[in-house]
Amino acid sequence: MGITRKLATKLISYQSSIRHQHKKVIMSRRLHARRTDGVDKNIWVEFTQLAADYKAVNLGQGFPDFSPPKFLQDAFCEAVSGGPQMHQYTRAFGHPPLVKNLAKFFSRIVGHEIDPLEDVLVTVGAYQALFCAFQALIDEGDEVIIVEPFFDCYQPMVKMVGGKAVYVPLRPKVEGSTVLSSGDWVLSAEELASKFTPRTKAIVINTPNNPLGKVYKTEELQMIADLCIKHDALCISDEVYEWLTYDGNKHVKIASLPGMWERTITIGSAGKTFSATGWKIGWTISSEQNIKRLKAMHQMSVFDCATTVQEAIARGFEREYELFGTPESYFQQLPALLHQKRNKLASCLESVGLQPIMPEGGYFLIADISSVKVDFNDSMSAGDEPYDFRFVKWLTKEKGLATIPVSAFYSPEHRQEFDKYIRFCFIKEDSTLDAAEDILRKLSQRQ
Ligand code: PMP
Ligand code: GLN
Repeated sequence: MGITRKLATKLISYQSSIRHQHKKVIMSRRLHARRTDGVDKNIWVEFTQLAADYKAVNLGQGFPDFSPPKFLQDAFCEAVSGGPQMHQYTRAFGHPPLVKNLAKFFSRIVGHEIDPLEDVLVTVGAYQALFCAFQALIDEGDEVIIVEPFFDCYQPMVKMVGGKAVYVPLRPKVEGSTVLSSGDWVLSAEELASKFTPRTKAIVINTPNNPLGKVYKTEELQMIADLCIKHDALCISDEVYEWLTYDGNKHVKIASLPGMWERTITIGSAGKTFSATGWKIGWTISSEQNIKRLKAMHQMSVFDCATTVQEAIARGFEREYELFGTPESYFQQLPALLHQKRNKLASCLESVGLQPIMPEGGYFLIADISSVKVDFNDSMSAGDEPYDFRFVKWLTKEKGLATIPVSAFYSPEHRQEFDKYIRFCFIKEDSTLDAAEDILRKLSQRQ
């Protein structure tokens, strides 16, 4: 017995020394790729988990808490029972009916005959479209101009290909009065021009913008287009919220401006278009030369997207093509519904002293939190975390309302300057918005 115990102790100590040596080998040979350094933290992972842990009323991550339209659900059910081929691989670069319908639909809007087989690539959401675009078009050392505030994944995606992100901010116009609309946040033409260098490969724009809700006007897009043409640069245009505009603002595609078709990569999302974020289908539309490169990335990573979901979305676009511009079109109905929800949330925020910036588009709204006085307890004051991160954690944990800190949409250099806003998502049932309203009213009463 004594001998056995001695042997066991020896064995444990031997195993532990092997483990230790193994760890040392890993550390010394760095058995991982540098491109993953510093891109491990992710606000969606962190704040979505926090909202779930605290069972908070969730106006954080952007997704509807209602179902997609019935015609889309029906199309999906029909696709599922549509025969064996619906359950097998389809064409790598996009299910034929979907690329055909996307090309037909968007040719009318861009004013350019889009070739379904050469100019379109279907991806796993707009995320993979962005990833393929950066991987396929940006080389090490290339500069990519990113307009702040920006959807957070642009920066790490540029970093992962060895590119250099160069930031240019949208700034609030400061003509005396308080800024109340996302339209008051503008790009300075001089400042933007000064960011272009011989190394500039691309600019990334997002209209309607997440998180601000800015919808770029034709003149602003023309100014960006002129610089792209002058400096022979690409424009990666993230247009996932293209149908969601309010108060007469119109979404304009930069690809439709003269000379921009060849140099624009337009990105869309079925998740945002049809209120089905979990379906994870997106697309890129561009000239054949660009799409050829993106196809290479796609076939070497994902190869193929889910067939049934693509079939259903193809039918959704077919319906929208027929109904385009009529009151039955979902692309008319969804913004009309969201317009009411935006106003409902904005007037609640205003009444409790959280000054909203009225979004012209998209389904997010940012509001100024500087009027709320909070004494964070120790668990909320993690080191040098920006103020809005601590505020959002406090609001989620202590008050049961989940939102997203706006400084997450800024570069590390500019984060501290924009840490007094938080983002609310308003594509939610009225009952969810009511629950949020109750929490906000109590918050204002305690001031
Ligand atoms: N771009 C923007 C601006 C977004 O807000 C999102 C959020 N989903 C995406 C891209 C990614 O879209 P998808 O869910 O289709 O991958
Ligand atoms: N686009 C959504 C948002 O901004 C979701 C992002 C995500 O989950 N990665 O909230």
